[in-house]
Amino acid sequence: MSLKIFDYCCSNGHVFEVWLREAADADPPVCPECGTPAERRLPSAPGLKPVEGTTRTEVAGDVTLRRAAEARRAAKEAYVAVMRRVVEKAEDVGRNFPDAVRAMERGSEERRLVRGECTPLVAAELRADGIDVLPIPDEALKPLN
Ligand SMILES: [Zn+2]
Repeated sequence: MSLKIFDYCCSNGHVFEVWLREAADADPPVCPECGTPAERRLPSAPGLKPVEGTTRTEVAGDVTLRRAAEARRAAKEAYVAVMRRVVEKAEDVGRNFPDAVRAMERGSEERRLVRGECTPLVAAELRADGIDVLPIPDEALKPLN
């Protein structure tokens, strides 16, 4: 049996990996950091090989997996850096976020970059209505030290 690593992202922006035979094998996995069900599967790192049962491929697989993990860390850092800029530029509308983005979508409020709070369920509803919302990772909200 060979297993593959699949990357998932929860609505709070946590990226985590799950070992499965096939992506379709399981229900959406639950985020180990915050417990919300994963929202989407991220594209697998290129060159990621299934892990096979022989020593040689296990070693090769291990190196590949470590590289893939590094690539994921780098990708997440880049995402955090981008979101940090977004956090700086966006107007904080707090709990009014869902109403604010809907008003902008309707055209009754001027379009601008806003950030605020909403539940994963509300975020999913906004996306279903064609409104792009992105999770802000916790790290992007912490001041740099
Ligand atoms: Zn999470």
